[in-house]
Amino acid sequence: MEGLLTFMGTGTSMGVPTLGCTCAVCTSSDPRDRRLRPSILLRWHQAGRERVVVVDTGPDFREQALRAGLARIDAVFYTHGHADHIMGMDDLRPFSFTAEKEGGPIPLYASTDTAAVLTRVFDYTFSPEATYPTRARVRLEPLKENTTVHGIEILRVPVTHGKMQISGFRFGRTAYLTDCSVIPESTFPLLEGLDTVILTALRHDPHPSHATVDQAIAWAERIGAKQTWFTHIAHELGHAATNRSLPEGVALAYDGLTFPVAL
Ligand SMILES: [Zn+2]
Ligand SMILES: [Zn+2]
Repeated sequence: MEGLLTFMGTGTSMGVPTLGCTCAVCTSSDPRDRRLRPSILLRWHQAGRERVVVVDTGPDFREQALRAGLARIDAVFYTHGHADHIMGMDDLRPFSFTAEKEGGPIPLYASTDTAAVLTRVFDYTFSPEATYPTRARVRLEPLKENTTVHGIEILRVPVTHGKMQISGFRFGRTAYLTDCSVIPESTFPLLEGLDTVILTALRHDPHPSHATVDQAIAWAERIGAKQTWFTHIAHELGHAATNRSLPEGVALAYDGLTFPVAL
């Protein structure tokens, strides 16, 4: 089956431009230097209708959904519970009312750790006592090794983010690994035979919970996908100049970039 992958956002947790910053990237006129918080969108057709899954709902989710022209969402997969990946959850509300009319709440696939954060942060949505009448109609679902959503399989790919174990995802011959500082040895077999891999590449200076550009290039070489895209990009990396320095088949992604994927 063929689908479409879209980068909803490719920026680091603070977004680019970064508030209060006047650096060359933050004041750049290149639209590819404007990066919302990290998220991807996956769309495909099944049984004559479009299916839509997003990975993470960060603080820019509403703007990203408008920009992508989304009318509905079938499921959300969460990588982890940090603010730049979850804080837009409440903006699922209008989509969730549509989903409820079509048959049920929107499933949110999250690890136990991530579900605990979502439950605490959005207490007014998830608490058994929640009665707020227009709360999001969403349902937390345990994230398993392997989940089938409307005909496609989504595999959990464990990665390390600082001291946390978080989730990347593989669908068909594409994998999305954001926010990682270490790819455990046991994860590499899950990354064989990829057409496309998406990796964190924050900046050049080391960071405790994100790969640098050089680390990400080394992973890209080892994984050997036909194309590697970098995401979760900080304002230290200008789009055009950085891309000129990267090996063939490796490039910074940018918001709105869309390409077909085999699912
Ligand atoms: Zn992040
Ligand atoms: Zn800046």
